[in-house]
Amino acid sequence: MIEFLKELIAAEGPMPIDRYMALCLGHPNYGYYMSRDPFGASGDFTTAPEISQIFGELIGIWSVAAWEAIGKPSPFILVEFGPGRGTLMADLLRATSRMAEFQAALKVHLIETSPTLRKLQREKLGENIEWHETLETLPQEPMIFVANEFFDALPIRQILNHAGQCFERCVGVENDALASQVRPLHGRPFEADGMHEFSPVSQAVAQLLGARISALGGAGIVIDYGYLKSGVGDTLQALRGHKSCGILEYPGASDLTAHVDFEALAAAFISGGAVALPPLTQGAFLSDMGIEQRLTTLSAKLHGKPREDFVAGGKRLVGKDEMGQLFKVLGVAQAQRQAIYPFETT
Ligand code: SAH
Repeated sequence: MIEFLKELIAAEGPMPIDRYMALCLGHPNYGYYMSRDPFGASGDFTTAPEISQIFGELIGIWSVAAWEAIGKPSPFILVEFGPGRGTLMADLLRATSRMAEFQAALKVHLIETSPTLRKLQREKLGENIEWHETLETLPQEPMIFVANEFFDALPIRQILNHAGQCFERCVGVENDALASQVRPLHGRPFEADGMHEFSPVSQAVAQLLGARISALGGAGIVIDYGYLKSGVGDTLQALRGHKSCGILEYPGASDLTAHVDFEALAAAFISGGAVALPPLTQGAFLSDMGIEQRLTTLSAKLHGKPREDFVAGGKRLVGKDEMGQLFKVLGVAQAQRQAIYPFETT
């Protein structure tokens, strides 16, 4: 992929970080997600549904409660953005298998661009599912949506504000290698000095999703690592084999992510017409959903090492120094004063 990027830069000039990220992750031939299964011990990173089945199960319980809160629309679409191996959806569907009304009303729709991951999802979830490249082709129906570690994979722009001037961070070529560069930007500088990050794609997705929910009804949750207040700082990072590496080191062969700006994301849902519920930490959300009780019940059936591992997995999801604090859960609703547990009603 490096040669391809160098040729592109030679022809077009240095590319902004959002273009670099989009190509590295999503190029049909060279993109990171397009041809590999990046999860688990032999991959590059691990996500909550791959750590513990309880994660998807509790999101299943949440989905039923949210569906009831919005008046049990039937039919409705159960939408997952970036479903990875399909583990969360499988756990969600299993945990809700006795909720006959909910199960009879839903149809699963997955937003996934990677052919390799679509294949894994089909193997795990069967054929009675529809796939989409973007949310624009979803049927016009009420929805419950889930997006776990989806928005952190969407491209960001990085704009450096320094002494009253703005510069866009770009990827260029120096000494025949990819190099981080900046390009002056015209326009009004920001107030604070430092690196400002924006994700135009995330903003567009959240706005469109908000508009659909407001027009057709629905609710959903976004779970991701990120910050609650927009600020400054370079959060772009690359991971390969569970170790951090330079973002220019392995283009197309390392995962690239950025922290999600939950304040900006909530504003985009609102600008689409939906209601953004005050975010909770993942730890608080899962505790409110009953993770401790579920861990106790399920681990009682296990012994020895499997039991220790099972409990450790659950604790990793809520631990303050692990995923419990860094990860946030943003709830989205269709109307004010809708009580969607465990979020505070607006
Ligand atoms: N939710 C899963 C996977 C997270 S990894 C889990 O928690 O395990 C990110 C997922 O989003 C992958 O499935 C990837 O293929 C998908 N993805 C990344 N960019 C995308 C895009 N622009 N459109 C649709 N899916 C995308």
